[in-house]
Amino acid sequence: MKKIPIRQMGAAHQQGQLDHLVFKDGTRYSLKAIYTPSAFEQHCKLPEQLGCLLTDEGYIQTGPGHETSIEGVYAVGDNASRMRTVANAVAMGNAAGISLSKKMIVEQF
Ligand SMILES: Cc1cc2nc3c(=O)[nH]c(=O)nc-3n(C[C@H](O)[C@H](O)[C@H](O)COP(=O)(O)OP(=O)(O)OC[C@H]3O[C@@H](n4cnc5c(N)ncnc54)[C@H](O)[C@@H]3O)c2cc1C
Repeated sequence: MKKIPIRQMGAAHQQGQLDHLVFKDGTRYSLKAIYTPSAFEQHCKLPEQLGCLLTDEGYIQTGPGHETSIEGVYAVGDNASRMRTVANAVAMGNAAGISLSKKMIVEQF
């Protein structure tokens, strides 16, 4: 497969619907849809206000058990993962709960 940089995308449309791409070498490619990763931004500033570190992509940085850079603060789901699905959010929440529970038990006994 040959990689050619895209020269023009947004302007190549029909009544607002994407119609084709134009590559730098002048070739055109007709298409009806395109999937592209969109930039990620946290919905609120609370994690940053708490002092939680973010990744370069803007997700909350977490370690093992989904604890953030601030001890006792956990982050799961879309705010902390590129794999934005319900199944992943639930799995992360489950793992964080187990991790927190274990930590509390260890602290207590
Ligand atoms: C259009 C669309 C279609 C999707 N389709 C699918 C699909 O088919 N299958 C699938 O698995 N996933 C799908 N997803 C992804 C899925 O919705 C998410 O991955 C999932 O909801 C993440 O759960 P979450 O709890 O991390 O975040 P969310 O579900 O976004 O929950 C975060 C909650 O926090 C609340 N909140 C934010 N800021 C504050 C604040 N300051 N104070 C109080 N509350 C606050 C929000 O209102 C929201 O209720 C889709 C997403 C979109 C946008």
